Amino acid sequence: MINLTNFLSIFIANWKLNGNIEFINEYYQKLSINSKNCVVVCSPSIFLNRLKSDNNNLFTGAQDVSIYNEGAYTGEISSKMLLDEKIDFCLVGHSERRKLFNEKNETVKKKSFNLIDNTIIPVICIGETLEQKEKNLTKSILVEQLQNSIPENSNFQNTIIAYEPIWAIGTGLTPSLNEINDVHSFIKNIDNKFNNYKILYGGSVKASNSADINSLKNVDGCLVGGASLKVDQFNKIIS
Ligand code: PEP
Repeated sequence: MINLTNFLSIFIANWKLNGNIEFINEYYQKLSINSKNCVVVCSPSIFLNRLKSDNNNLFTGAQDVSIYNEGAYTGEISSKMLLDEKIDFCLVGHSERRKLFNEKNETVKKKSFNLIDNTIIPVICIGETLEQKEKNLTKSILVEQLQNSIPENSNFQNTIIAYEPIWAIGTGLTPSLNEINDVHSFIKNIDNKFNNYKILYGGSVKASNSADINSLKNVDGCLVGGASLKVDQFNKIIS
């Protein structure tokens, strides 16, 4: 398993359902990585094996995994299969999966348990909707999501938490820097167990705001969707 403490910051590109072979070849030719950071590219599963590189700071991540380990589950990919293919990270509980595929905290927990069991680092995504934020429910929602989606075998060395306010994903909106820092500090202090977890921020991170967000005391890196599809933008974000 990757030693997360070796890196100054962690940046994860979530390509979602985008990319093709030509895109990948060009992307990997242009990707430029600062040796202090950990950079993870999460592509659609079919391309994972094409993303290999000998750069010690560049890793590959899946965007989802099955809750099952093996059997009659057509279309699924297990944690063990990801391990076999030397995948180091996997997003779990992204808000798009929670909303569009009805993924619940319990499912996130089970997937994360299996990933950790197979020495793959789950990047567990949590975050509130705009409606919840407006009702001042952000913190209670985060507590509920964390309590129910972090498995027993999780610790700060084998799990990453990504705080992604749902209303900020793909909208160009972000919380203020103070709000981000405050929520990250809140997460780290919900339980002593979380004190040393790496906590990434995600939601409309781009070249023009990433340095400010990433310099916040309680932010350990960023999860980037849309802006990670433009390698020149992503290079600026991770520099
Ligand atoms: C995401 O998909 O996790 C994400 C943060 O998207 P975007 O950067 O486009 O808001």
